[in-house]
Amino acid sequence: MQQDRMTAFAVRNVFRTLQSRYRRSGRTASDLRSPYRVLIATILSARTRDEVTDETAGKLFLRYPSVRSLAGANVSSVRRIIRRVGFPGAKSQHVVAAARMILRQHRGRVPDHLDGLLQLPGVGRKTANVVLNYAFGQPAIAVDTHVHRVANRLGWVSTRTSRESETKLEFVVPKKMWRSMNDLFVKFGKNVCKPRVPQCWTCPILRWCAYPAKILTPRKTSA
Ligand code: SF4
Repeated sequence: MQQDRMTAFAVRNVFRTLQSRYRRSGRTASDLRSPYRVLIATILSARTRDEVTDETAGKLFLRYPSVRSLAGANVSSVRRIIRRVGFPGAKSQHVVAAARMILRQHRGRVPDHLDGLLQLPGVGRKTANVVLNYAFGQPAIAVDTHVHRVANRLGWVSTRTSRESETKLEFVVPKKMWRSMNDLFVKFGKNVCKPRVPQCWTCPILRWCAYPAKILTPRKTSA
């Protein structure tokens, strides 16, 4: 019980700190975007740098601005456009097949529920939750590698997979914070709590972190 209260206190303070740090810098989780664009861009983003994803998605949407147009696309033409993202062969098949399924089974509208999204080719839980969150404004914790890593380092969960983290975080994090979690933790995970060398010496939430291997002095080369 005491532990639960301490975690709840830490969770509130971590969110408050990260919100004040990142909310004013660019996009926020409260901006709803086109479900089609969120879905396709998120499928493209796996194992791909943000700049490449953004540029590639922009080119793809210029050529195929709607579900219907992408459903009618030739897979090899799509592959040429998205050749710079990771796994372009598989992703070109997935995005075209997903568009066709949406057209056939959902009257051209991206499903706004988890089950429907998970049936689409190339869509796992993270992508589905990103779509629910960013396109439909539904409370969902989209757990990617950054959210999973940071939540474990903070000591909020002790999990091995993103799926486990998602389930545990739904208990630890109040529902009203679910929508902002991905946005805040991804920014924080990329800039401060980096995968190989977390920059604990400059971390604004150091006092609430349980990570035993904190790095409190800058190294000559950082990740
Ligand atoms: Fe990450 Fe270090 Fe901050 Fe903990 S103190 S959240 S490990 S950067």
